[in-house]
Amino acid sequence: MKKLLLAIVLLLSGSPLLAQDVCGTEPTPQHIFDFLESLNFEQLKARRASDTVMHIPIQLHMMRSSTGTAPLSPADIFSAICTMNDRYTLANIQFYIKGEILYYDSNALLNPSASSVINTLMGTANQPYVMNIYFANLGPLGLNGYAYYPNSGPGTTVRRGGLVMSYSAVLNGATLSHETGHYLSLPHPFDGTSNNKLMGERVTRNFNEVLPRYSANCYQAGDKFCDTRADFLSNRWGCTFTPAAGDTDLNGDFFRPDSSLLMSYAGDACRIRLTEEQMAACRATLEDVGKRGYLLAFPMPVLQAVTTAPVLTLPLQGATGLHPNFTTFAWDPVPGATMYRLRALSNGIVVDIDTLLYTTSYFHGHNKLKANRNYEWEVTAYNQTDLCGNPTSARGTFSTTSFTATSVAEAHFDDLKVYPTFLERGENLQIAAAELAGKNLRVELRSAEGKLIAAQQIIASENSLGIETGLQSAGIYFLSIEHEGYRVVRKLVQR
Ligand SMILES: [Zn+2]
Repeated sequence: MKKLLLAIVLLLSGSPLLAQDVCGTEPTPQHIFDFLESLNFEQLKARRASDTVMHIPIQLHMMRSSTGTAPLSPADIFSAICTMNDRYTLANIQFYIKGEILYYDSNALLNPSASSVINTLMGTANQPYVMNIYFANLGPLGLNGYAYYPNSGPGTTVRRGGLVMSYSAVLNGATLSHETGHYLSLPHPFDGTSNNKLMGERVTRNFNEVLPRYSANCYQAGDKFCDTRADFLSNRWGCTFTPAAGDTDLNGDFFRPDSSLLMSYAGDACRIRLTEEQMAACRATLEDVGKRGYLLAFPMPVLQAVTTAPVLTLPLQGATGLHPNFTTFAWDPVPGATMYRLRALSNGIVVDIDTLLYTTSYFHGHNKLKANRNYEWEVTAYNQTDLCGNPTSARGTFSTTSFTATSVAEAHFDDLKVYPTFLERGENLQIAAAELAGKNLRVELRSAEGKLIAAQQIIASENSLGIETGLQSAGIYFLSIEHEGYRVVRKLVQR
């Protein structure tokens, strides 16, 4: 009985926190307000026609479970970055990925008990000269995300602060752009007004009101912008707002907050834009070496756009009898691509493999695929600067057996013979196995250091075949023979 009571009390006291998915960004520091007040918006806006695009590098940090699974795939995060690039297009600010994604496989980090858990990680894991973004489950903390203003947060100088995103908010189209706004000096439009409607930002934009009315104070109050309407709503609201009797400022004017503003707390579906002054402030922050200027220290790498879809090579189309825990996937490299998303689907829905790779093949470890199942699979090609609307391969199909081997060597080709293992100069290599005929083999020759020397796809016409190695230099080599996911490796000595 006592236990039950405690549970109810916790539930009741916990519920107000859980009721909102708000932004956990700290109050705007005074030095940011001072910076915004110092900006000459007329001058900054006049320059806009000659603005060049600022390219901001992003380092992604993904928290995953202790067994390496995450609520979203990297590709989902790429699509959120694409949405953000749309939102920042008019500002001439665009984002790209720098380096490989960093993963942290820890339940304690994936489901942090407090934001301080992630902040401690930021202090050591933040990379220099990039915008660091961390992804974790912040729902239990009542947060969609939070970010640090320039010159605040964990880390130092060129690796200070960053964004923390809740996986649940990544795809809502608004939170990532909102938190990035804070990171680039933008306050909430309700800052300084939600807690004091009379002394906060006034609704009027007339700087020459006649007493008893008070003139506009938008450049000195609220978020310090005059093209964001006065706002006092610091709780999440919808896309329309009708002021009630007391929702007035010092002049008695009704507040009519703008739900289209990304920095507001309006509904995610309607928060889509930055204003001219907000864009100018973001750019001024990026031009200021004491703020986020370091993000522009290195130019964006020039990478060829990814325009062609990958062609799948392994498993062979329609292959059957694959071993669920030892299957190799391979595809041809795509011009310009540096990253590939591999997905294996069953029944068109269930995804048993969804992984981002920096190579054109994948040999998965244990039990990713299920036994006796028909699979489809596909590969999407990306690079760090081309993340939107990327080409995906045609879907391949294959099926698995019930057999589960504990090692590749055990799985197949037990009777495979490779001879001679001491090759004389110009001598051909022989491969033989009882059921070799008709098998489609990938044969690779590697140096002792593992460097690929030659690779060939061969369909065996008989149960034995000769291979011309073309080896010129004496030494130790490794021959790898792969068939539908099984691989056998043999050592050779070239005299
Ligand atoms: Zn916020």
